[in-house]
Amino acid sequence: MLILMLINTLVVPLFAHPKVTEVDYGTFMSMTESQDLGLVEVENNQIIFTDKAEEKIYKTGRMDDEGLIERLYQSGAKFSSEIVEETSPLLSLLVSWLLPIAFFVILGQFITKHFMNKTGGNSMMFNMGKSNAKVYVKSSNGIMFSDVAGEDEAKENLTEIVDYLHNPRKYEEIGAKMPKGILLVGPPGTGKTMLAKAVAGEANVPFFSMSGSEFVEMFVGMGASKVRDLFKQAKEKAPCIVFIDEIDAIGQKRDGRVGGNDEREQTLNQLLTEMDGFEGNNGVIILAATNRPETLDPALTRPGRFDRRVPVELPDLKGREEILKVHAKKIKVAPDVDFEHIARMASGASGAELANIVNEAALRAVRDNRSCANQADLEESIEVVIAGYQKKNAILTDQEKRIVAYHEIGHALVAAKQTNSAPVQKITIVPRTSGALGYTMQVEEGNHYLMSKEEILNKIATFTGGRAAEEIAFGSITTGASNDIEQATKLARAMLTRYGMSEDFDMVALETVTNQYLGGDASLACSAGTQEKIDEQVVALVRAQHEKARRILEENRAKLDELSNYLYDRETITGEEFMNILNG
Ligand code: ADP
Repeated sequence: MLILMLINTLVVPLFAHPKVTEVDYGTFMSMTESQDLGLVEVENNQIIFTDKAEEKIYKTGRMDDEGLIERLYQSGAKFSSEIVEETSPLLSLLVSWLLPIAFFVILGQFITKHFMNKTGGNSMMFNMGKSNAKVYVKSSNGIMFSDVAGEDEAKENLTEIVDYLHNPRKYEEIGAKMPKGILLVGPPGTGKTMLAKAVAGEANVPFFSMSGSEFVEMFVGMGASKVRDLFKQAKEKAPCIVFIDEIDAIGQKRDGRVGGNDEREQTLNQLLTEMDGFEGNNGVIILAATNRPETLDPALTRPGRFDRRVPVELPDLKGREEILKVHAKKIKVAPDVDFEHIARMASGASGAELANIVNEAALRAVRDNRSCANQADLEESIEVVIAGYQKKNAILTDQEKRIVAYHEIGHALVAAKQTNSAPVQKITIVPRTSGALGYTMQVEEGNHYLMSKEEILNKIATFTGGRAAEEIAFGSITTGASNDIEQATKLARAMLTRYGMSEDFDMVALETVTNQYLGGDASLACSAGTQEKIDEQVVALVRAQHEKARRILEENRAKLDELSNYLYDRETITGEEFMNILNG
């Protein structure tokens, strides 16, 4: 539009009229009187005239001037009607319409040519015609199964898919159908996206990646159209992999809520239809990842759609060690680093956290001007990732520091004295940016899949050990135990409501977990009366463990003092030092 307007105001007048000078009416009158006029053309609202030699053309507004024609006649001017020639209609059409159109056509061709050159080759992007909001990444990111450490079960499961994509004939001959969809479920940062990319990398096929939220649009029907487009593209490029990340964004249960999300439901319906619509064995495999499998619509997870569910769990000890090694290859590490030890310390960390730990270690090495990261870097970075950076300028008063020392030794001592508790790895009272003033790092010897009732009780006792130590040593209590209280309560409540570990409620589920992979929130499912009972029992349970912790500490009062003073002086002690003093 802008270009059109510019052409019309600047270019068209150039073609249309010879130059006309505008003058005031006085000039016109004096020229008339001095008989300087050549041709004159009187129009409705303007007068156009030339000088005697008919070279210059002037124009002026028309006034209510009686006797004008008379005077003009007397001045010898010739009346004319064609001083300014009308531009031919053909020319004006040409200039005002065809020129801009030609301009746009040329511009369009230039852009298309430029664009085609880019996408025609091995570019990363496909443009999707109608709904151009999509970006699909081709397979060549180079991620292979070897880049994904641990997760052996998931890899085994997916290897079959890769094999199928390499050699579909083998499967067709027997009449086996490949699953159409595979759902990767697991906590965040365990490598689901990586696994999907690795499948594409191994199979060397195009990889269409899209996040579930990208389907959700403001207008109803747009998401559905995107799904259609996606599948159309995929079928053209088959064999290929379509990866939908965070599928819960569109795959949530359709419920009859008033004012439900129309757009989302339409998108889901389209997805359901598309997944049913293409025949088996056509080479399109759909991978989807989610942290919240329980929110997915049952129609989506039924066989024939996402008929396989591959759990991608938090890595175990060996998995953690392997992940650390994979990531350590990308940085320079000292040859004597004990990865197993690091993996043991980082219990419960996800793949993403482990990658972060390795990177933090490398950053720390750079900060200290060393050429490679060593064991201490890795150990410190675990603490950074778990508890935040050391707070260099946090000044605790002497009394506070003493209380924190007692608190932490309280935890460790209670843990060590209960045979089933894991020994401590490290105790520190250096404040951290996360707000922790100190912490006790427990290390589990092997992998734990089950926890006995005694172990849970001991764990609760360990949580209360910090507060118990404060009570015994100082006779007063502080706010330092807030996190312990939270954890102990959570465990005690879970014992009663989910693990069936109480006399009164037997094996009845009083709580359902709603977010298994995202923190494990639970919602109560019982009557108000039962809730009251649960609350009472939780209090009783925690109180009993608190008493037990206090008893243990009182029995070992001398050791408590000795260890606390030692920690107060050193600020950080290892599990070994701790055990030496305890048993010494
Ligand atoms: P998710 O999709 O499960 O949330 P990602 O696949 O995006 O997690 O993983 C995030 C990052 O964590 C990856 O880029 C990778 O560096 C690291 N990571 C996670 N799991 C692993 C693993 N098993 N092996 C190697 N690296 C991993």
